[in-house]
Amino acid sequence: MSKSTLRQIAQLGHPILRANSTLISQVKSTVIQKLIDDMIATVQEVDGVGLAAPQVFSALQVFIIASKPNPRYPQAPLMRPLAIINPEILSTSEEKSYEWEGCLSVPGIRGLVPRYTTLHIAYTSRSGKKFEKTLDGFVARIFQHEYDHIHGLIYLDRVDTNQALISEKEYQKMIRRDYIQQTIYDK
Ligand code: ZN
Repeated sequence: MSKSTLRQIAQLGHPILRANSTLISQVKSTVIQKLIDDMIATVQEVDGVGLAAPQVFSALQVFIIASKPNPRYPQAPLMRPLAIINPEILSTSEEKSYEWEGCLSVPGIRGLVPRYTTLHIAYTSRSGKKFEKTLDGFVARIFQHEYDHIHGLIYLDRVDTNQALISEKEYQKMIRRDYIQQTIYDK
């Protein structure tokens, strides 16, 4: 494997975050494989759970999902970072759920975002194989967040109201409060 390089992350306001990304035809090309390696290294460096190519200034249809357990989703699967190329959403549940999301391109803010709870999706892997899968819970949420990125959308576009936006600092306080409450109720 080639040596990976950490990439800069585009911040809200940069036009690439609003671009529609192009389908990838040469999945196994050096350029695409290097982009994937760099995106995996970058998302791990910043301890993120997902990263889309436009966030590293590349308007191509690829993103990384890197779910792991966290305070909001203690049951979230711990997985090796997975590259999703040319993704499609084939169908969704009717049901949506609300959870707080953040984004590496929007530092300091969290938003309460409705997302489909279950998705049937198709994508190409980095080795060029086509897959169809059903995703739910936290992984389905990450998929929808990253899928939006390659279509020029940011989670801020998905909140019901601006009142669903809070600072990272208040979010961290809320998580600690919830954790304390859960601990009390468990006893
Ligand atoms: Zn994001």
